[in-house]
Amino acid sequence: MVSQFPDIKITAETPIRAPSAVPVDDAVLPFEVDALDLRGRLTRLGPTLDDILHKHDYPPQVGKLLGEAIVLTTLLGSSLKFDGRFILQTRTDGPVSFLIVDFQAPDRLRAYARFDTARLKDGQNSGALLGKGHLAMTIDQGADMSRYQGMVALDGGSLEDAAHEYFLRSEQIPTRVRLAVGEEWRGGDGGKRRWRAGGMLLQFLPKAPERARQADLHPGDAPEGTEAHQVAEDDAWVEGQSLISTVEDVELIDPDLSGERLVYRLFHQRGVRVFAPLPLRAQCSCSREAVSSMLKSFAPKDRADMVKDGKVVVTCEFCSSVYEFTPEEAGVE
Ligand SMILES: [Zn+2]
Repeated sequence: MVSQFPDIKITAETPIRAPSAVPVDDAVLPFEVDALDLRGRLTRLGPTLDDILHKHDYPPQVGKLLGEAIVLTTLLGSSLKFDGRFILQTRTDGPVSFLIVDFQAPDRLRAYARFDTARLKDGQNSGALLGKGHLAMTIDQGADMSRYQGMVALDGGSLEDAAHEYFLRSEQIPTRVRLAVGEEWRGGDGGKRRWRAGGMLLQFLPKAPERARQADLHPGDAPEGTEAHQVAEDDAWVEGQSLISTVEDVELIDPDLSGERLVYRLFHQRGVRVFAPLPLRAQCSCSREAVSSMLKSFAPKDRADMVKDGKVVVTCEFCSSVYEFTPEEAGVE
């Protein structure tokens, strides 16, 4: 186990040019604001998100929450080396008891949510849907590298709150995250609703570490009258936070606003450089072979219990693919 979150250092450079007006969906755009020691990433998701969410018949609020988890995963995991893997999971006591997003570098995403329909209500926000529990992030950088696991409590707040808490407590890197998910209504082709999402991660990474001191996010359970932990934050980070706080949800998901334009709109006064976008796609890693070997790892009795109507049927929870086996193929004696 390593103690450091994998470096988000951005290396691939692109020459200076005007921000592209062409929106690029299903990609992460890294950027850097040198004058303020800021590094960031912007994710825009269209067809990839729609594909993942439409594999399941999620109620809108569950789809939105899972979409937020997917965006957060792309912001955190997209810096992994080839064949690395980033898994974000929540286990909580709310109506959505389990979320998992599995990102396999360089570009594969899959995800699903478990929820209790009876406990869903209109207008529940992310915090109410999740309830209390924890969010875990696992990073696997391949056979030669150690596994990293980070955890943060979920206490009725949103995934954005959890990400802030994680970076404040565990990484001590000043970080702000914005996540937005929505459904776009396109009148054409029979009037279809399509999921879209966007998100931004901004980090303050000054060369002198003492500049990275941060104020506490919440006063917590301190007795009334206790002074909140007063820390003078660095001016560059104060400015970075105030800029990212102006980003509207509609800007993050707007299909007609290019990511480069959005980043430029926010940071152009300080000079912003963008790097080559990292594409993303929805693809599950399940296969008949993998399901078959999983069945063989079960106890004989469990395998026998799975026989229904003379066959063993396994449905992939991620992508809803259905795999059918005869009892013999499934190793039932
Ligand atoms: Zn699958």
